[in-house]
Amino acid sequence: MMFVSTRGRAGRRSFEDVLLAGLAEDGGLFLPERWPELGRDRLAALDGADYPATAAAVLAPFTEGCFSEAELEAMAREAYAGFAHPAVAPLRQLDPRLWLLELFFGPTLAFKDFALQLLGRMFERVLARRSSEITIIGATSGDTGSAAIAAVAGRARMRIVILHPHERISPVQRRQMTTVDAPNVANIAIRGTFDDCQNIVKTLFNDPQLRKELNLAAVNSINWARIAAQAAYYVYAGLRLGCLARPVGFCVPTGNFGDVYAGHVARRLGLPIDRLIIATNRNDILARFFASGEYRIGDVVPTISPSMDIQLASNFERLLFELLDGDGPAVAELMGRLSREGAFRVPSAVHARACALFAAGSAREEETKATIARWYERTAGAVLVDPHTAVGLAVAERFDRGSARPMVVLATAHPAKFPDAVAAATGRRPELPVHLRDLFAREERFTVLAADATAVATFLRTWHPNP
Ligand SMILES: *Cc1c(COP(=O)(O)O)cnc(C)c1O
Repeated sequence: MMFVSTRGRAGRRSFEDVLLAGLAEDGGLFLPERWPELGRDRLAALDGADYPATAAAVLAPFTEGCFSEAELEAMAREAYAGFAHPAVAPLRQLDPRLWLLELFFGPTLAFKDFALQLLGRMFERVLARRSSEITIIGATSGDTGSAAIAAVAGRARMRIVILHPHERISPVQRRQMTTVDAPNVANIAIRGTFDDCQNIVKTLFNDPQLRKELNLAAVNSINWARIAAQAAYYVYAGLRLGCLARPVGFCVPTGNFGDVYAGHVARRLGLPIDRLIIATNRNDILARFFASGEYRIGDVVPTISPSMDIQLASNFERLLFELLDGDGPAVAELMGRLSREGAFRVPSAVHARACALFAAGSAREEETKATIARWYERTAGAVLVDPHTAVGLAVAERFDRGSARPMVVLATAHPAKFPDAVAAATGRRPELPVHLRDLFAREERFTVLAADATAVATFLRTWHPNP
């Protein structure tokens, strides 16, 4: 399987290159050259398979030439062994046709562990083959940083440096990163905003000498391997709900269009999906696009679902490429206009094709809070959802009145990861799972630096120098 860039000006690349590079050199995102088919027989054979076997089968067509299905399964067994639920991704029934897919049993309590736990192991194998080493650098506003650190801590040939905005992320989120005690992990608190952190990372990547010297790598959500790994839980959940006989719908809280796009990948692989609903918070660039055909960047407003406070849904470029029939220069044109003018509009035929693939809605803050409270009360305290999941539930319930088909809402984070919002809505403060109970007693380690790329570059060059 070879991969091409959405902007059409990069060469064909192998899975191994795509895994390590993240972004294509023309600024585009990688996509498989053609969609593989899992086929009904293969899907039927996976009905009843456990999570690691399902993940290996879903990933195998993409990793051809890099990892065999057996290698993938071995990595997946290891990656998901540490999850705190034997089903890895359990379904929880809420009413006769509404289900939660609980994706928060990984080490850092959000769905990002699914892809990153596997990616850490993929990196390790590829680097051993190539006898090389990398420095992973990333900026985080919350969940990605902790999931990436948990995936890389203690692994050979990799070190990881995560930048977060000083005193602007939640204490649980910060401590999940800063209390990890491994020599290959460093945290930097930047005196500035998340955007400052992201700009520093971009500046460092654009410095060819530094990039080469430290072998810089990224693990942000545009990495194809992350998307492909996430397609697995759609297949797993769909099969469990009998989708080969009756298609299943999914409603997905999304920010960067990564998670719901993974559902689209599962559909392209052949999974019978009834419909895919995009759920956003007030940062609703995607919902506005599906309503109007115009993709316009707005101001980011802080919400109680901060991991979706994004006004530029990077993975949307992948859908655009498909909607424009693989015309890379046309995608590059639109993305250029977006960065110059902050917006673009697609022709009505293209908009209609997008709307045939996805529905979209957004939830206001009051609705999100009311949804957390409503399910808590309705189930006498048994169902406690985090604010991101609540955005998905609110949108699913609004869209799906009267339908008889099963609808699955992705539960993207554990309620204890966002205790303040959950306590404000229900009066109950969710407790951290056992492995994190002592989080607030652990020692923190991080370096505070100014919002200055040169200071971060100096830190990188002097910290833990390569032998
Ligand atoms: C990252 C994140 C999301 C959004 O995922 P995308 O890939 O950006 O669509 C939703 N909920 C939680 C809890 C997250 O951490």
